[in-house]
Amino acid sequence: MAAEIRTFTCLTDNFGYLIHDPATKATASIDAPEAAPIIKALEREGWTLTDILITHHHGDHVGGVAELKQKYGCRVVAPHDKSAKIANVDLRAVNADVIKVGSLLARVVETPGHTLDHISYVFDSEKAVFAADTLFSIGCGRVFEGNYPMMWDSLLKLRALPDDFRLYCGHEYTAANVKFALTIEADNPDLQARAAEVAKLRAENEPTIPVLLGDEKKANVFLRADEPAVAAKLHMKGADPAQVFGELRERKNKS
Ligand SMILES: [Zn+2]
Repeated sequence: MAAEIRTFTCLTDNFGYLIHDPATKATASIDAPEAAPIIKALEREGWTLTDILITHHHGDHVGGVAELKQKYGCRVVAPHDKSAKIANVDLRAVNADVIKVGSLLARVVETPGHTLDHISYVFDSEKAVFAADTLFSIGCGRVFEGNYPMMWDSLLKLRALPDDFRLYCGHEYTAANVKFALTIEADNPDLQARAAEVAKLRAENEPTIPVLLGDEKKANVFLRADEPAVAAKLHMKGADPAQVFGELRERKNKS
């Protein structure tokens, strides 16, 4: 039986995600921005939380962990402490670990850059990747703790996943990302198509996530910093892709 995935809003613009295994009734929350909307989503479905899979230490991803753990006695999986401590952790995950959520398997991919501890969870059988604040639709996370080559390397790991995988990211930032991306490549037809889709979804107050990775690879300029045409747009012909990526990220920071 295929897993069921639920998407909802937490805090202001964080995504809450539940992934449920119908076979075993196990349910994981990907991150825990705040407890209340996660509890509400669980109760709406009649599901019990068995696991929390944390991607990184930022407060808007772990703020609900203590309350949820107390209420459900769930297992908390998180990366090793790098720059900051994550509390209430039962299992520390490293690259290539496979975490069981009932009969579902989540493969851990270390994706540092936004923070040093950032990991992503890939459910291969469900064709789903939870990339939190590493890869956004038409954007990527700010590089707070790592450096540009580190973040670029992490984005390449996510880009290597198959086109028919769906991206579930940490924030509803897509409309702002589209606005910036159009300043770089207004002539990209895939970006134009995504821009139209995003405008429609947001007008209907619908989430822009999930999105197919194959579409994202064509429309998201941050995933294409190694394309000569992108370097040319930044007047950086022949530059190292990590440098081109860094220039894109700097421009986005200032936008
Ligand atoms: Zn973050």
